[in-house]
Amino acid sequence: MTTLHFPFSVDLAPSRRYCLAMARFPLDKKIKRFAARFNEAGHSLYVVGGAVRDHLLGIPIEDYDFTTDARPEEVVSLFRRVIPTGIEHGTVSVHWEGELYEVTTFRSDGAYLDSRHPSHVDFITSLEEDLKRRDFTINAFAVDCTSGQIIDLNGGYEDLKARQIRAIGNPEQRFDEDGLRILRAARIAAKIDFVIEARTLEAMRAKRDNLLPVSAERIREELFKLVGSDHPRTGLEYLRESGVLSIILPELMEGDGIEQGGMHRETVLEHAISCCEASVHFTDKPEVRFAALLHDIGKSRTVQQGEGRFTFIGHETVGREMARAIMLRLKASGEQTALVEDLVAHHMFFYESSWTDSAVRRFIKRVTLPRLADLFALRLADHAAIHGSIDGTLLVELKARIEAIVAEGDALTVKDLAIGGNELMALGIPKGPLIGAVLEYLLETVLDDPSQNTSARLTTISERYFSLIKTS
Ligand code: ATP
Ligand code: MG
Repeated sequence: MTTLHFPFSVDLAPSRRYCLAMARFPLDKKIKRFAARFNEAGHSLYVVGGAVRDHLLGIPIEDYDFTTDARPEEVVSLFRRVIPTGIEHGTVSVHWEGELYEVTTFRSDGAYLDSRHPSHVDFITSLEEDLKRRDFTINAFAVDCTSGQIIDLNGGYEDLKARQIRAIGNPEQRFDEDGLRILRAARIAAKIDFVIEARTLEAMRAKRDNLLPVSAERIREELFKLVGSDHPRTGLEYLRESGVLSIILPELMEGDGIEQGGMHRETVLEHAISCCEASVHFTDKPEVRFAALLHDIGKSRTVQQGEGRFTFIGHETVGREMARAIMLRLKASGEQTALVEDLVAHHMFFYESSWTDSAVRRFIKRVTLPRLADLFALRLADHAAIHGSIDGTLLVELKARIEAIVAEGDALTVKDLAIGGNELMALGIPKGPLIGAVLEYLLETVLDDPSQNTSARLTTISERYFSLIKTS
Protein backbone atom coordinates (compact mmCIF):
# COMPACT_ATOMS: atom_id res chain seq x y z
CA MET A 1 0.00 0.00 0.00
CA THR A 2 3.03 2.20 0.48
CA THR A 3 4.09 3.74 -2.78
CA LEU A 4 7.79 3.39 -3.22
CA HIS A 5 9.68 6.16 -4.78
CA PHE A 6 13.33 6.19 -5.50
CA PRO A 7 14.86 9.47 -4.53
CA PHE A 8 18.21 9.29 -6.36
CA SER A 9 18.63 11.54 -9.31
CA VAL A 10 22.41 11.63 -9.52
CA ASP A 11 24.09 8.75 -11.26
CA LEU A 12 27.22 7.79 -9.36
CA ALA A 13 30.20 6.20 -11.03
CA PRO A 14 30.43 2.51 -10.04
CA SER A 15 34.10 2.87 -9.08
CA ARG A 16 33.28 5.19 -6.19
CA ARG A 17 32.64 2.64 -3.51
CA TYR A 18 33.66 4.34 -0.29
CA CYS A 19 31.61 6.90 1.59
CA LEU A 20 29.40 7.89 -1.27
CA ALA A 21 28.16 11.40 -0.93
CA MET A 22 24.56 10.33 -0.92
CA ALA A 23 21.75 12.21 0.66
CA ARG A 24 22.70 12.49 4.34
CA PHE A 25 20.88 10.39 6.80
CA PRO A 26 18.53 12.40 9.00
CA LEU A 27 19.86 11.91 12.51
CA ASP A 28 17.41 13.20 15.02
CA LYS A 29 18.49 14.83 18.28
CA LYS A 30 17.75 11.68 20.26
CA ILE A 31 20.16 9.63 18.17
CA LYS A 32 22.79 12.38 18.34
CA ARG A 33 22.57 12.44 22.13
CA PHE A 34 22.70 8.65 22.16
CA ALA A 35 25.82 8.68 19.99
CA ALA A 36 27.45 11.36 22.19
CA ARG A 37 27.35 8.91 25.10
CA PHE A 38 29.44 6.48 23.03
CA ASN A 39 31.78 9.17 21.74
CA GLU A 40 32.47 10.50 25.23
CA ALA A 41 33.61 7.01 26.23
CA GLY A 42 35.91 6.92 23.19
CA HIS A 43 33.64 4.77 20.97
CA SER A 44 31.92 5.15 17.65
CA LEU A 45 28.28 4.43 16.82
CA TYR A 46 26.63 3.70 13.48
CA VAL A 47 23.09 3.10 12.30
CA VAL A 48 23.05 -0.06 10.19
CA GLY A 49 20.65 -2.41 8.47
CA GLY A 50 17.13 -1.79 7.28
CA ALA A 51 16.87 1.78 8.58
CA VAL A 52 19.52 3.08 6.16
CA ARG A 53 18.19 0.99 3.28
CA ASP A 54 14.64 2.19 3.86
CA HIS A 55 15.68 5.81 4.20
CA LEU A 56 17.47 5.63 0.85
CA LEU A 57 14.32 4.16 -0.68
CA GLY A 58 12.20 6.90 0.81
CA ILE A 59 10.03 4.54 2.83
CA PRO A 60 9.25 4.88 6.54
CA ILE A 61 11.90 3.60 8.91
CA GLU A 62 10.48 0.92 11.20
CA ASP A 63 13.26 0.49 13.71
CA TYR A 64 16.87 1.38 14.25
CA ASP A 65 19.72 -1.10 14.57
CA PHE A 66 23.07 0.25 15.75
CA THR A 67 26.59 -1.09 15.68
CA THR A 68 29.57 0.02 17.75
CA ASP A 69 33.17 -0.83 18.57
CA ALA A 70 32.29 -0.76 22.27
CA ARG A 71 32.17 -4.25 23.73
CA PRO A 72 28.79 -5.41 25.04
CA GLU A 73 29.82 -5.05 28.72
CA GLU A 74 30.88 -1.50 28.01
CA VAL A 75 27.56 -0.71 26.35
CA VAL A 76 25.82 -2.09 29.43
CA SER A 77 27.96 0.08 31.70
CA LEU A 78 27.20 3.24 29.71
CA PHE A 79 23.43 3.16 30.28
CA ARG A 80 21.02 2.87 33.13
CA ARG A 81 18.29 0.82 31.48
CA VAL A 82 19.59 -1.99 29.32
CA ILE A 83 18.30 -5.43 28.42
CA PRO A 84 21.01 -7.98 27.59
CA THR A 85 18.96 -9.33 24.64
CA GLY A 86 21.70 -11.44 23.12
CA ILE A 87 24.72 -10.29 25.02
CA GLU A 88 26.84 -13.33 24.21
CA HIS A 89 26.43 -12.44 20.52
CA GLY A 90 27.08 -8.80 21.19
CA THR A 91 23.53 -7.43 21.21
CA VAL A 92 22.04 -5.33 23.98
CA SER A 93 18.84 -3.29 23.90
CA VAL A 94 19.00 0.16 25.44
CA HIS A 95 16.06 2.23 26.65
CA TRP A 96 16.85 5.74 25.50
CA GLU A 97 14.52 8.70 25.68
CA GLY A 98 11.43 6.56 25.18
CA GLU A 99 12.94 4.41 22.40
CA LEU A 100 14.36 0.93 22.52
CA TYR A 101 17.57 0.78 20.52
CA GLU A 102 19.34 -2.46 19.62
CA VAL A 103 23.11 -2.10 19.72
CA THR A 104 25.43 -4.84 18.46
CA THR A 105 29.19 -4.80 18.85
CA PHE A 106 31.18 -5.06 15.60
CA ARG A 107 31.64 -8.76 15.09
CA SER A 108 32.66 -11.43 12.68
CA ASP A 109 30.58 -14.60 12.80
CA GLY A 110 31.39 -18.28 12.72
CA ALA A 111 28.95 -20.57 10.91
CA TYR A 112 25.45 -20.79 12.41
CA LEU A 113 25.93 -24.39 13.54
CA ASP A 114 22.88 -24.61 15.77
CA SER A 115 20.95 -22.79 13.03
CA ARG A 116 19.94 -20.09 15.46
CA HIS A 117 23.10 -18.41 16.59
CA PRO A 118 26.59 -18.40 15.10
CA SER A 119 28.78 -21.10 16.68
CA HIS A 120 31.02 -18.34 17.92
CA VAL A 121 31.38 -14.63 17.34
CA ASP A 122 34.54 -12.57 17.54
CA PHE A 123 34.18 -9.00 18.67
CA ILE A 124 36.31 -6.84 16.46
CA THR A 125 37.19 -3.20 16.00
CA SER A 126 36.70 -2.89 12.26
CA LEU A 127 33.44 -1.58 10.86
CA GLU A 128 34.47 -2.90 7.46
CA GLU A 129 34.65 -6.48 8.74
CA ASP A 130 31.32 -6.12 10.52
CA LEU A 131 29.59 -4.93 7.38
CA LYS A 132 31.02 -7.87 5.41
CA ARG A 133 29.37 -10.46 7.69
CA ARG A 134 25.93 -8.99 6.91
CA ASP A 135 23.63 -10.77 4.49
CA PHE A 136 22.93 -8.50 1.52
CA THR A 137 24.67 -5.48 0.07
CA ILE A 138 21.62 -3.26 0.57
CA ASN A 139 21.55 -4.27 4.25
CA ALA A 140 25.19 -3.33 4.79
CA PHE A 141 25.12 0.44 4.76
CA ALA A 142 26.27 2.24 7.87
CA VAL A 143 25.61 5.79 8.97
CA ASP A 144 28.15 7.51 11.13
CA CYS A 145 26.02 8.91 13.94
CA THR A 146 28.26 11.90 14.40
CA SER A 147 28.50 13.14 10.83
CA GLY A 148 25.40 11.57 9.28
CA GLN A 149 27.58 10.30 6.44
CA ILE A 150 26.37 7.16 4.69
CA ILE A 151 29.05 4.52 4.29
CA ASP A 152 28.77 1.86 1.59
CA LEU A 153 31.63 -0.61 1.44
CA ASN A 154 29.87 -3.46 -0.37
CA GLY A 155 28.28 -1.91 -3.42
CA GLY A 156 24.89 -1.53 -1.77
CA TYR A 157 24.20 1.71 -3.53
CA GLU A 158 24.65 0.18 -6.98
CA ASP A 159 22.26 -2.63 -6.06
CA LEU A 160 19.70 -0.21 -4.67
CA LYS A 161 19.79 1.65 -7.96
CA ALA A 162 19.35 -1.61 -9.84
CA ARG A 163 16.61 -2.53 -7.34
CA GLN A 164 18.20 -5.87 -6.62
CA ILE A 165 19.10 -8.04 -3.65
CA ARG A 166 22.56 -9.50 -3.82
CA ALA A 167 24.43 -11.53 -1.22
CA ILE A 168 27.69 -10.07 0.00
CA GLY A 169 30.59 -12.18 -1.29
CA ASN A 170 29.96 -15.75 -2.37
CA PRO A 171 26.21 -16.39 -2.02
CA GLU A 172 26.55 -20.16 -1.63
CA GLN A 173 29.04 -19.75 1.15
CA ARG A 174 26.86 -17.12 2.82
CA PHE A 175 23.87 -19.48 2.68
CA ASP A 176 26.04 -22.25 4.10
CA GLU A 177 26.88 -20.06 7.09
CA ASP A 178 23.21 -19.35 7.78
CA GLY A 179 20.33 -20.93 5.87
CA LEU A 180 17.86 -18.34 7.11
CA ARG A 181 19.41 -15.80 4.74
CA ILE A 182 17.75 -17.72 1.88
CA LEU A 183 14.35 -16.87 3.30
CA ARG A 184 15.42 -13.34 4.24
CA ALA A 185 16.24 -12.64 0.59
CA ALA A 186 12.64 -13.38 -0.41
CA ARG A 187 11.23 -11.50 2.60
CA ILE A 188 13.19 -8.35 1.82
CA ALA A 189 12.23 -8.65 -1.87
CA ALA A 190 8.60 -8.76 -0.70
CA LYS A 191 9.05 -5.72 1.47
CA ILE A 192 10.56 -3.43 -1.18
CA ASP A 193 9.56 -5.22 -4.38
CA PHE A 194 13.12 -5.84 -5.56
CA VAL A 195 14.45 -8.56 -7.81
CA ILE A 196 16.89 -11.10 -6.47
CA GLU A 197 20.12 -11.01 -8.43
CA ALA A 198 20.61 -14.12 -10.59
CA ARG A 199 23.58 -15.68 -8.77
CA THR A 200 22.00 -15.09 -5.40
CA LEU A 201 18.77 -16.69 -6.61
CA GLU A 202 20.66 -19.64 -8.04
CA ALA A 203 22.39 -20.12 -4.69
CA MET A 204 19.03 -19.98 -2.90
CA ARG A 205 17.90 -22.89 -5.04
CA ALA A 206 21.16 -24.84 -4.67
CA LYS A 207 21.31 -24.34 -0.91
CA ARG A 208 17.60 -24.54 -0.05
CA ASP A 209 18.15 -27.60 2.14
CA ASN A 210 20.10 -25.36 4.51
CA LEU A 211 16.74 -24.16 5.73
CA LEU A 212 15.89 -27.60 7.09
CA PRO A 213 17.83 -27.25 10.34
CA VAL A 214 16.87 -23.61 10.90
CA SER A 215 14.70 -23.14 13.96
CA ALA A 216 10.95 -22.84 13.49
CA GLU A 217 10.86 -19.52 15.35
CA ARG A 218 13.30 -17.85 12.97
CA ILE A 219 11.45 -19.21 9.94
CA ARG A 220 8.09 -18.10 11.27
CA GLU A 221 9.33 -14.62 12.00
CA GLU A 222 10.61 -14.10 8.45
CA LEU A 223 7.63 -15.82 6.84
CA PHE A 224 5.16 -13.64 8.74
CA LYS A 225 7.15 -10.55 7.82
CA LEU A 226 7.01 -11.70 4.20
CA VAL A 227 3.23 -12.07 4.11
CA GLY A 228 2.87 -8.92 6.20
CA SER A 229 4.83 -6.88 3.69
CA ASP A 230 3.53 -4.73 0.83
CA HIS A 231 4.34 -7.23 -1.94
CA PRO A 232 3.84 -10.79 -0.69
CA ARG A 233 3.51 -12.12 -4.24
CA THR A 234 7.07 -11.05 -5.05
CA GLY A 235 8.44 -12.97 -2.08
CA LEU A 236 6.18 -16.00 -2.53
CA GLU A 237 7.06 -16.34 -6.21
CA TYR A 238 10.74 -16.34 -5.29
CA LEU A 239 10.12 -19.00 -2.68
CA ARG A 240 8.33 -21.12 -5.25
CA GLU A 241 10.88 -20.55 -7.98
CA SER A 242 13.81 -21.41 -5.73
CA GLY A 243 12.16 -24.56 -4.35
CA VAL A 244 12.16 -23.08 -0.85
CA LEU A 245 8.37 -23.31 -0.64
CA SER A 246 8.61 -27.11 -0.92
CA ILE A 247 10.77 -27.08 2.17
CA ILE A 248 8.99 -24.67 4.44
CA LEU A 249 5.38 -25.11 3.25
CA PRO A 250 5.22 -28.39 1.32
CA GLU A 251 1.44 -28.55 1.84
CA LEU A 252 1.06 -25.42 -0.27
CA MET A 253 3.07 -26.96 -3.10
CA GLU A 254 0.56 -29.82 -3.23
CA GLY A 255 -1.75 -27.31 -4.94
CA ASP A 256 0.75 -26.79 -7.76
CA GLY A 257 -0.85 -27.74 -11.08
CA ILE A 258 -4.25 -28.58 -9.58
CA GLU A 259 -6.84 -27.01 -11.85
CA GLN A 260 -10.09 -25.85 -10.29
CA GLY A 261 -12.41 -25.16 -13.20
CA GLY A 262 -15.59 -23.13 -12.77
CA MET A 263 -14.95 -19.45 -12.22
CA HIS A 264 -11.31 -20.07 -11.34
CA ARG A 265 -8.63 -19.22 -13.87
CA GLU A 266 -5.82 -20.20 -11.56
CA THR A 267 -4.53 -23.44 -10.06
CA VAL A 268 -4.92 -23.99 -6.33
CA LEU A 269 -1.36 -22.79 -5.66
CA GLU A 270 -1.65 -19.75 -7.91
CA HIS A 271 -4.91 -18.79 -6.25
CA ALA A 272 -3.33 -19.11 -2.78
CA ILE A 273 -0.60 -16.67 -3.78
CA SER A 274 -3.08 -14.29 -5.43
CA CYS A 275 -5.33 -14.33 -2.39
CA CYS A 276 -2.43 -13.51 -0.08
CA GLU A 277 -1.39 -10.69 -2.41
CA ALA A 278 -4.95 -9.32 -2.51
CA SER A 279 -5.23 -9.50 1.28
CA VAL A 280 -2.81 -6.55 1.49
CA HIS A 281 -5.75 -4.31 0.59
CA PHE A 282 -7.99 -5.60 3.35
CA THR A 283 -5.86 -6.34 6.41
CA ASP A 284 -2.50 -5.54 7.96
CA LYS A 285 -2.51 -8.58 10.24
CA PRO A 286 0.16 -11.09 9.17
CA GLU A 287 -1.90 -13.98 10.57
CA VAL A 288 -4.91 -13.08 8.43
CA ARG A 289 -2.71 -12.73 5.37
CA PHE A 290 -1.21 -16.12 6.20
CA ALA A 291 -4.72 -17.54 6.50
CA ALA A 292 -5.42 -16.07 3.05
CA LEU A 293 -2.42 -18.03 1.78
CA LEU A 294 -3.63 -21.22 3.47
CA HIS A 295 -7.41 -20.92 3.10
CA ASP A 296 -7.74 -23.53 0.31
CA ILE A 297 -4.87 -25.73 1.47
CA GLY A 298 -7.23 -28.67 1.92
CA LYS A 299 -8.16 -28.70 -1.77
CA SER A 300 -5.20 -30.80 -2.87
CA ARG A 301 -6.33 -33.59 -0.53
CA THR A 302 -10.04 -33.46 -1.34
CA VAL A 303 -10.04 -32.92 -5.09
CA GLN A 304 -12.28 -35.19 -7.14
CA GLN A 305 -12.96 -35.04 -10.81
CA GLY A 306 -16.18 -36.18 -12.36
CA GLU A 307 -17.94 -35.28 -15.60
CA GLY A 308 -15.51 -32.50 -16.41
CA ARG A 309 -15.88 -30.71 -13.09
CA PHE A 310 -13.73 -30.60 -10.00
CA THR A 311 -15.07 -30.79 -6.49
CA PHE A 312 -13.29 -30.16 -3.19
CA ILE A 313 -15.91 -31.27 -0.73
CA GLY A 314 -14.92 -30.71 2.88
CA HIS A 315 -11.71 -28.92 1.95
CA GLU A 316 -12.26 -26.35 4.69
CA THR A 317 -12.32 -29.07 7.36
CA VAL A 318 -9.29 -30.90 6.00
CA GLY A 319 -7.68 -27.49 5.49
CA ARG A 320 -8.25 -26.52 9.08
CA GLU A 321 -6.30 -29.57 10.27
CA MET A 322 -3.51 -28.88 7.79
CA ALA A 323 -3.33 -25.21 8.82
CA ARG A 324 -3.16 -26.25 12.45
CA ALA A 325 -0.31 -28.65 11.76
CA ILE A 326 1.57 -25.91 9.90
CA MET A 327 1.09 -23.40 12.71
CA LEU A 328 2.25 -25.96 15.28
CA ARG A 329 5.28 -26.78 13.16
CA LEU A 330 6.09 -23.06 12.98
CA LYS A 331 5.72 -22.90 16.79
CA ALA A 332 3.19 -20.08 16.44
CA SER A 333 1.39 -18.94 19.58
CA GLY A 334 -1.90 -20.58 20.59
CA GLU A 335 -3.74 -17.39 19.71
CA GLN A 336 -2.21 -17.13 16.24
CA THR A 337 -2.88 -20.80 15.58
CA ALA A 338 -6.53 -20.53 16.64
CA LEU A 339 -7.06 -17.48 14.42
CA VAL A 340 -5.59 -19.07 11.29
CA GLU A 341 -7.40 -22.34 11.94
CA ASP A 342 -10.77 -20.62 12.44
CA LEU A 343 -10.44 -18.49 9.32
CA VAL A 344 -9.61 -21.52 7.19
CA ALA A 345 -12.47 -23.49 8.75
CA HIS A 346 -15.09 -20.77 8.20
CA HIS A 347 -14.10 -19.32 4.84
CA MET A 348 -16.88 -21.18 2.97
CA PHE A 349 -19.97 -19.20 3.96
CA PHE A 350 -22.44 -18.06 1.35
CA TYR A 351 -24.65 -15.28 2.57
CA GLU A 352 -27.85 -14.45 0.76
CA SER A 353 -30.43 -11.78 1.54
CA SER A 354 -32.95 -14.56 2.22
CA TRP A 355 -31.07 -15.63 5.38
CA THR A 356 -33.35 -15.27 8.39
CA ASP A 357 -32.20 -13.34 11.45
CA SER A 358 -31.73 -16.68 13.24
CA ALA A 359 -29.44 -17.77 10.43
CA VAL A 360 -27.40 -14.59 10.88
CA ARG A 361 -27.28 -15.16 14.65
CA ARG A 362 -26.15 -18.76 14.12
CA PHE A 363 -23.47 -17.54 11.73
CA ILE A 364 -22.19 -15.09 14.37
CA LYS A 365 -22.27 -17.81 17.00
CA ARG A 366 -20.28 -20.17 14.76
CA VAL A 367 -17.64 -17.69 13.68
CA THR A 368 -17.71 -15.64 16.93
CA LEU A 369 -17.82 -11.86 17.01
CA PRO A 370 -14.10 -11.18 17.35
CA ARG A 371 -13.36 -13.21 14.20
CA LEU A 372 -15.88 -11.58 11.88
CA ALA A 373 -13.81 -8.63 10.63
CA ASP A 374 -10.90 -10.94 9.83
CA LEU A 375 -13.16 -13.42 8.06
CA PHE A 376 -14.62 -10.61 5.96
CA ALA A 377 -11.12 -9.44 5.05
CA LEU A 378 -10.29 -12.98 3.93
CA ARG A 379 -13.50 -13.21 1.89
CA LEU A 380 -12.81 -9.89 0.15
CA ALA A 381 -9.28 -11.02 -0.68
CA ASP A 382 -10.55 -14.37 -1.97
CA HIS A 383 -13.11 -12.62 -4.13
CA ALA A 384 -10.64 -10.05 -5.44
CA ALA A 385 -8.18 -12.83 -6.30
CA ILE A 386 -10.79 -14.72 -8.30
CA HIS A 387 -12.53 -11.86 -10.06
CA GLY A 388 -9.89 -9.15 -10.13
CA SER A 389 -12.35 -6.82 -8.44
CA ILE A 390 -14.77 -7.02 -5.55
CA ASP A 391 -18.50 -6.75 -5.29
CA GLY A 392 -19.03 -6.23 -1.60
CA THR A 393 -22.78 -5.52 -1.75
CA LEU A 394 -23.84 -8.71 0.01
CA LEU A 395 -21.07 -8.48 2.60
CA VAL A 396 -22.04 -4.90 3.39
CA GLU A 397 -25.62 -6.08 3.86
CA LEU A 398 -24.52 -8.95 6.12
CA LYS A 399 -22.34 -6.57 8.13
CA ALA A 400 -25.29 -4.21 8.65
CA ARG A 401 -27.48 -7.09 9.81
CA ILE A 402 -24.81 -8.29 12.23
CA GLU A 403 -24.44 -4.78 13.62
CA ALA A 404 -28.19 -4.53 14.12
CA ILE A 405 -28.26 -7.86 15.97
CA VAL A 406 -25.38 -6.81 18.19
CA ALA A 407 -27.09 -3.47 18.87
CA GLU A 408 -30.26 -5.35 19.93
CA GLY A 409 -28.16 -7.12 22.55
CA ASP A 410 -29.35 -10.56 21.35
CA ALA A 411 -27.66 -13.49 23.04
CA LEU A 412 -24.90 -14.89 20.86
CA THR A 413 -22.96 -16.99 23.35
CA VAL A 414 -23.82 -19.02 26.45
CA LYS A 415 -22.51 -16.13 28.54
CA ASP A 416 -25.29 -13.89 27.21
CA LEU A 417 -28.07 -16.14 28.51
CA ALA A 418 -30.38 -14.83 31.23
CA ILE A 419 -29.51 -17.80 33.44
CA GLY A 420 -26.23 -19.62 34.02
CA GLY A 421 -24.75 -22.76 35.52
CA ASN A 422 -25.50 -21.75 39.12
CA GLU A 423 -29.20 -21.31 38.42
CA LEU A 424 -29.28 -24.68 36.65
CA MET A 425 -27.66 -26.39 39.62
CA ALA A 426 -30.21 -24.74 41.89
CA LEU A 427 -32.87 -26.50 39.78
CA GLY A 428 -31.24 -29.80 40.70
CA ILE A 429 -29.25 -30.38 37.51
CA PRO A 430 -26.02 -32.04 38.61
CA LYS A 431 -22.68 -30.30 38.13
CA GLY A 432 -20.80 -31.67 35.11
CA PRO A 433 -21.21 -32.00 31.36
CA LEU A 434 -25.01 -31.95 31.59
CA ILE A 435 -24.94 -28.28 32.60
CA GLY A 436 -23.00 -27.48 29.41
CA ALA A 437 -25.46 -29.48 27.32
CA VAL A 438 -28.47 -27.66 28.82
CA LEU A 439 -26.83 -24.26 28.29
CA GLU A 440 -26.15 -25.15 24.64
CA TYR A 441 -29.77 -26.17 24.23
CA LEU A 442 -30.92 -22.88 25.75
CA LEU A 443 -28.65 -20.92 23.43
CA GLU A 444 -30.07 -22.75 20.40
CA THR A 445 -33.55 -21.81 21.55
CA VAL A 446 -32.62 -18.19 22.08
CA LEU A 447 -30.82 -17.95 18.72
CA ASP A 448 -34.09 -18.98 17.11
CA ASP A 449 -36.18 -16.65 19.23
CA PRO A 450 -34.42 -13.96 21.28
CA SER A 451 -37.64 -13.15 23.19
CA GLN A 452 -37.13 -16.42 25.11
CA ASN A 453 -34.05 -15.00 26.84
CA THR A 454 -35.65 -14.26 30.19
CA SER A 455 -34.89 -15.93 33.46
CA ALA A 456 -38.46 -17.25 33.81
CA ARG A 457 -38.65 -18.71 30.27
CA LEU A 458 -35.24 -20.30 30.43
CA THR A 459 -35.96 -21.82 33.84
CA THR A 460 -39.14 -23.45 32.51
CA ILE A 461 -37.35 -24.71 29.37
CA SER A 462 -34.48 -26.10 31.45
CA GLU A 463 -36.79 -27.96 33.81
CA ARG A 464 -38.66 -29.50 30.89
CA TYR A 465 -35.44 -30.43 29.09
CA PHE A 466 -33.95 -31.94 32.25
CA SER A 467 -37.00 -34.02 33.04
CA LEU A 468 -37.04 -35.34 29.47
CA ILE A 469 -33.37 -36.32 29.72
CA LYS A 470 -33.94 -38.01 33.11
CA THR A 471 -36.74 -40.14 31.81
CA SER A 472 -35.12 -41.06 28.46
P1 ATP B 1 13.62 -4.63 8.74
O1 ATP B 1 13.56 -3.22 8.28
O2 ATP B 1 12.48 -5.40 8.21
O3 ATP B 1 13.86 -4.77 10.21
P2 ATP B 1 16.38 -5.33 8.49
O4 ATP B 1 17.25 -5.45 7.28
O5 ATP B 1 16.69 -4.24 9.46
O6 ATP B 1 14.89 -5.26 7.99
P3 ATP B 1 16.77 -7.08 10.74
O7 ATP B 1 16.30 -8.49 10.92
O8 ATP B 1 16.29 -6.03 11.65
O9 ATP B 1 16.44 -6.72 9.21
O10 ATP B 1 18.34 -7.13 10.76
C1 ATP B 1 19.17 -5.96 10.87
C2 ATP B 1 20.42 -6.12 10.03
O11 ATP B 1 21.23 -7.17 10.57
C3 ATP B 1 20.19 -6.51 8.58
O12 ATP B 1 19.92 -5.39 7.77
C4 ATP B 1 21.50 -7.17 8.23
O13 ATP B 1 22.50 -6.22 8.02
C5 ATP B 1 21.85 -7.90 9.52
N1 ATP B 1 21.33 -9.28 9.56
C6 ATP B 1 20.16 -9.69 10.10
N2 ATP B 1 20.01 -11.02 10.01
C7 ATP B 1 21.13 -11.46 9.40
C8 ATP B 1 21.60 -12.77 9.01
N3 ATP B 1 20.88 -13.85 9.25
N4 ATP B 1 22.81 -12.83 8.42
C9 ATP B 1 23.55 -11.73 8.19
N5 ATP B 1 23.16 -10.50 8.52
C10 ATP B 1 21.98 -10.36 9.11
MG1 MG C 1 15.75 -3.90 11.40
